[in-house]
Amino acid sequence: MVTREIQQQLCEIFGPDNVLTSKISMEAYGYDSSPFYGTPDAVVFAETVADVSRLMNLADREKLNVIARGAGTNLSGGCVPTDGGIVLALSRFNKILEIDPVNETALVEPGVANMALQKAAAPHGLMYAPDPASLRVATIGGNVAEGAGGMRGVKYGVARDHLLGLEVVLADGEIVQLGSGGKYSPGVNSTGIFCGSEGTFGIITKIRVKLVGLSRYVRTMTAVFDNLQNAGKTVSNIISRGIVPVTLEIMDRTMVRAVDDFLQLGLPRDAEALLLIEIDGCEEELDRQANEIVTISQESGATQVILATSEEQRQDLWKARRSGNGALGRIKPAYMVQDVTVPRHKVPWMLTFVADIARKYDITIAQLAHAGDGNLHPHLLYDPFNKEEHARVEKAALDIFKAALDCGGTLTGEHGIGIEKKQYMSMAFSPEDMNFMKDIKKALDPNLILNSGKVLDIPRCQYGS
Ligand SMILES: Cc1cc2nc3c(=O)[nH]c(=O)nc-3n(C[C@H](O)[C@H](O)[C@H](O)COP(=O)(O)OP(=O)(O)OC[C@H]3O[C@@H](n4cnc5c(N)ncnc54)[C@H](O)[C@@H]3O)c2cc1C
Repeated sequence: MVTREIQQQLCEIFGPDNVLTSKISMEAYGYDSSPFYGTPDAVVFAETVADVSRLMNLADREKLNVIARGAGTNLSGGCVPTDGGIVLALSRFNKILEIDPVNETALVEPGVANMALQKAAAPHGLMYAPDPASLRVATIGGNVAEGAGGMRGVKYGVARDHLLGLEVVLADGEIVQLGSGGKYSPGVNSTGIFCGSEGTFGIITKIRVKLVGLSRYVRTMTAVFDNLQNAGKTVSNIISRGIVPVTLEIMDRTMVRAVDDFLQLGLPRDAEALLLIEIDGCEEELDRQANEIVTISQESGATQVILATSEEQRQDLWKARRSGNGALGRIKPAYMVQDVTVPRHKVPWMLTFVADIARKYDITIAQLAHAGDGNLHPHLLYDPFNKEEHARVEKAALDIFKAALDCGGTLTGEHGIGIEKKQYMSMAFSPEDMNFMKDIKKALDPNLILNSGKVLDIPRCQYGS
């Protein structure tokens, strides 16, 4: 509990202007982008590693839960203070400390928005490859803590693949430097365990990432299908011919119509599925690859393939893809977005399985997929005031989890476990695997004060002193 005395200590660390305790502020910081909600006891804004270290020292002494928060865009409840505690807002801890064009790296503070890093790297002909659709606001700290991916994942990988080094404040306030400034980092991959740890292992206060060359030449196209499964098969057919596009994204009919109603782009509303494909590379090779992709798509059942002929057309296609989540608000007030992965060859089957599940439970599911990565985002739409419909959505979600795991897939590709999928962890991991993860948590955070109640269900009395 945050007593008056602790409030006073927080004000001494952060300054009174950087500590919030009013009821209305607690309401505002009770959410992230998931449907969950909790009330914190205080919110503090950190701007230096010393601030974070002093906070953790205090929290560890007083056994207070600390919830790191970047932009709060995660979709699994990672920032929701379900057990109360202190929200550690990192959005003002946001300096780009270095762009090193020779070694193609960047050093940033955790609250730097993904887009801000892209803008700083671009004049050097470089980009940070992970590009979640939320990139305008989502922070690099949040990207690393969630293990975020994005639309370029097929060719360039995800946050995990671009992480070189971290500064982390541990549960007791100790500051450690992990990894290195370059490709080579001898010894244990200690940065790796913090990537995807969702604020449960430590607070990330500095991040060294790899940058890659900005794609100078691209070709962007959409293949139109009257059959969802054929769209999925096209993905495998393209990759098995040795072409690795930057992007292979599927949108189903419900999603296409929602986006078109919203943006009025003239998308093919009657299509069962659209496949958005982007390739990059050297100019001459690109035309050859684009022609080959057109042929493969047609052979795989595409009724039409449209090549973007201007940057404006290309941007329209990207806008369509990035607007999916928001556009769905026109159909139902809420959705549960799933994030299961399956091996790539199972994508066609999984897309049709999800469509069948929608029929089975009489609900609307709009499908988006980073299909090239086997990462599906079925959006299960519902009205939160309709309890019975919500219950059907929960059952449908469970069927989807089970099917993905049966295919050799995972519960989540990039959205994290948070609160949302915690209850399903034992479906994906054996008791031994779960105990191993709990032991790591226990070693790093013996008092269970870092984002307690997320990812792993460990009652505080089990390990806490
Ligand atoms: C419209 C929309 C589209 C999206 N598209 C994508 C997508 O394409 N790909 C994708 O991967 N995700 C996507 N997301 C999910 C989300 O944007 C990502 O998970 C993103 O990485 C979260 O960043 P954030 O700054 O908002 O982190 P937050 O939501 O603030 O935090 C996420 C988690 O990380 C922890 N955390 C945050 N900062 C730190 C830190 N410095 N140290 C330790 N722990 C920390 C938090 O405690 C929390 O558990 C989307 C979300 C929305 C709303």
